[in-house]
Amino acid sequence: MELLIKSANVVDWCGSYFGDVYINDGIISEVGKNLNKDCKTIDAKGLTLMPSFVDLHVHFRDPGFTYKEDIESGSKAAVRGGFTMVNLMANTNPVCSSMDVVNYVKEKASKVGLVDVHQVLSITRNFDGKEISHLEDIDNSIKIISEDGKDVMDGNAMLEAMKLSKQKDLIVMCHCEEHSLSKYDMRIAENIMTLRNLEFAKITGCKIHIAHVSTIEAMRYIIRYKNEGVKVTCEVAPHHLFLNDSVKYRVNPPIRKEEDVLFLIEAIKKGYVDVIATDHAPHTEEDKENGAPGISGIETAFSLCYTKLVKENGLSLSKLSEIMSKNPSEILDVKKGTIEIGYDGDLVLVDLNKKYEINVDEFKSKGKNTPLNGQHVYGKVVKTIKGGKEVYSSSKYNI
Ligand SMILES: [Zn+2]
Repeated sequence: MELLIKSANVVDWCGSYFGDVYINDGIISEVGKNLNKDCKTIDAKGLTLMPSFVDLHVHFRDPGFTYKEDIESGSKAAVRGGFTMVNLMANTNPVCSSMDVVNYVKEKASKVGLVDVHQVLSITRNFDGKEISHLEDIDNSIKIISEDGKDVMDGNAMLEAMKLSKQKDLIVMCHCEEHSLSKYDMRIAENIMTLRNLEFAKITGCKIHIAHVSTIEAMRYIIRYKNEGVKVTCEVAPHHLFLNDSVKYRVNPPIRKEEDVLFLIEAIKKGYVDVIATDHAPHTEEDKENGAPGISGIETAFSLCYTKLVKENGLSLSKLSEIMSKNPSEILDVKKGTIEIGYDGDLVLVDLNKKYEINVDEFKSKGKNTPLNGQHVYGKVVKTIKGGKEVYSSSKYNI
């Protein structure tokens, strides 16, 4: 299959140009100006073409909680948000502690055929907090393990998991939260566990990825350990950048103070934040009313980040592309996130000038849980292309 995209403002992490991109057999095969091919052509005049986004932190709730989301609805939501690869968390039912669950997820995702999936395996078996012997049986398709939503409280179990991960070249993705403190102070709970996990990474030499960093202190610890050469990457979620604690909405970690938001934006500008990841956590209205933490975020991520970081805070679009596409692709070790010959033809067309209102009724996700319904933002996803095939097209554009 071939596809030619013409006359776009082409932007990726290393720069921008005005021109065309040609995809053949799923792979970017030519880039330049005035390309002419006898194949399906999109006239992208007035639009910006970027590598599609890669989301390192996603809950599709499948198997087990498919009333909140399933792999099909989640995939549709992802491509509507401009994402073509997702890293799925293990807090399903059953918990993803075996290759059986991994294979179920991967087969279902490939049947739906909209996004590539990496499925995370739990750090401890069935999140029991202690047992890690299941990690011995995994094949090398597993690149990341995580206890997201929980973290591992038992220090020795975490240390052993990191030692094994170092041997097997796995990344340990850390949701940092000391549960004995959560009831009293969610800020100290995040900070103290961030520090423990960083120290364990330093001791073991294991690669870690700190999920949804939300406080000044946690970010400072990460900067310190990065500067010491510890193999740590980190992510920030769009809602921790777009919202401050004047908005009451339950997410974990919580929405923080404006000074935290400003510090995180500075950390992004200075290159300390590797990745924007959504922590897309769909819930039903009822579960949300009963206090379930989380936000349905995969369909609004680009617009929130473009509006907040690029339009309001002067970040370059190339830098945003780096943290939404290139860096997460590198962490997952896939050939995406760059518009260059030989890379996957996974692209997104966006209208940067389009101001629009977020409307949860248009969400493809089953989760309509967001405090951002009605919010005006810039940067609308017009088309999402995966391997040269259109996997999403906004009905509001006729191109
Ligand atoms: Zn988490």
